[in-house]
Amino acid sequence: MKFPVVGDIASKIVIAVNIHDSATKAIEQMLEYEHRHVVVEDKNEYFIISVIDILHLQEKKITLDTPLHALKLRKIPVINRHKNVLDTLEFLSDSVEYICVTNDDETLYGLLTHTDITSNIDPDTLMENYKLQDFLKLGRRMKWVSKDEKISDLISDMVDSGYDNVIVVDDLKPIGILTTKDIVRLIKTQKDLNVAVQIHMSKPVDSIGQSSSIREALNFLKSKHYKRVVVVDNEGKLSGIISQKELISLTYSKWVALMKEYQEELSEINVLLEDKNREYQTIASTDSLTGLYNRYKFSELYSSSLLAMRQRHNEMSLIMLDIDFFKKVNDTYGHNAGDKVLIQVSHALLKTLRNIDIVCRWGGEEFVVLLPTASLENAYTLAQKIKTYIEELEIDVVGHITASFGVAQVLERDDMQSVLDRADKALYLAKKSGRNCVKTCSEI
Ligand code: GH3
Ligand code: MG
Ligand code: MG
Repeated sequence: MKFPVVGDIASKIVIAVNIHDSATKAIEQMLEYEHRHVVVEDKNEYFIISVIDILHLQEKKITLDTPLHALKLRKIPVINRHKNVLDTLEFLSDSVEYICVTNDDETLYGLLTHTDITSNIDPDTLMENYKLQDFLKLGRRMKWVSKDEKISDLISDMVDSGYDNVIVVDDLKPIGILTTKDIVRLIKTQKDLNVAVQIHMSKPVDSIGQSSSIREALNFLKSKHYKRVVVVDNEGKLSGIISQKELISLTYSKWVALMKEYQEELSEINVLLEDKNREYQTIASTDSLTGLYNRYKFSELYSSSLLAMRQRHNEMSLIMLDIDFFKKVNDTYGHNAGDKVLIQVSHALLKTLRNIDIVCRWGGEEFVVLLPTASLENAYTLAQKIKTYIEELEIDVVGHITASFGVAQVLERDDMQSVLDRADKALYLAKKSGRNCVKTCSEI
């Protein structure tokens, strides 16, 4: 099996910002490119900021103007693009899920995720690359005794604990092995068991260094026809015992665990992204001051309503309204008071209309309402009702205001602009006729 170099499997579309940029810039990049993470460059060092980090900032009420260098970002490891994917295995246990892939001149080439790595390796790869020491703590428990221990003392211990062999050590170095089978043989030949274990142990005992790979250990066992092998550390001291069966099953279970972990991680990220997506959709489709639909969302809803109108052959109308002398409100009471008027008018619209009606802040102090099942007459009556409602509103500080209305019916052939133009003309007429009144396009 041949393994790719990291440059081949890394994602080359990397969105990066500078460490001196603000969190806002990072968010803009995430949204623009629909990425859930952005690399943050600081000369030849790389950090990462993800959607989750942004949520954390929000939670801690940290302002988004904060420069990225002032945030605690996670540093990401760096690897040259020509390195083999196997060279990345050491990063798999790292808590940072990404690895930066760089060109020879250390500039950014791409980004590699743990998933990229694990999907390019298999259990065989793990056997080549994991060392015995990575598995020893997971391996079987073992019994070791000093060379001077009496065999008679060992027997009950072995019976109780179920060990079928003991490793004999001298200064913690394995020098022999005594199996339950050996002891049975000694009993049968009526040997004195009240002697030190070193007298009857088999020696020497073969061992393998703990920095050997799983593959090397398996080959060693195969060539010697052993079922298990004693593992020693760099000084030759006993560090464990591991069987062929354990080596294989541990490797596979490690691989399964790795796969499962990344699977879970991916689905968690997915859930988060879906939530974020919903949030961004709301942001993108509503006006932040009034919470009403914005123009963009309105045109989307207009298209679907027009389609429904054509299918059901019902009538549909549209009201355009504009607050009268709103500039005066701003000039007299200030912009904040003006904003409050806009919010109150929005509430008034929502209150007088039905759920199926589509209310939009068209811009400034201008609103558009689409009435998907209303004739021109119905729409006119409704506009009159809204007009009276607005007229009667008691607005804090400002007092009373009025609005002018233009009403138009949507015709089968209408695109949005043509019906809006007619409503706008009617509105213009209402303004010209002294304001605080409703005009329909048929009056033009
Ligand atoms: P008319 O009766 O002819 O419609 O006069 P008007 O003063 O309402 O119309 P004009 O278009 O001259 O002024 C609209 C004002 O609305 C000007 C603009 O500053 C203000 N405006 C636009 N958007 C907002 C907003 O979000 N908040 C506030 N407070 N004012 C806004
Ligand atoms: Mg106005
Ligand atoms: Mg206006």
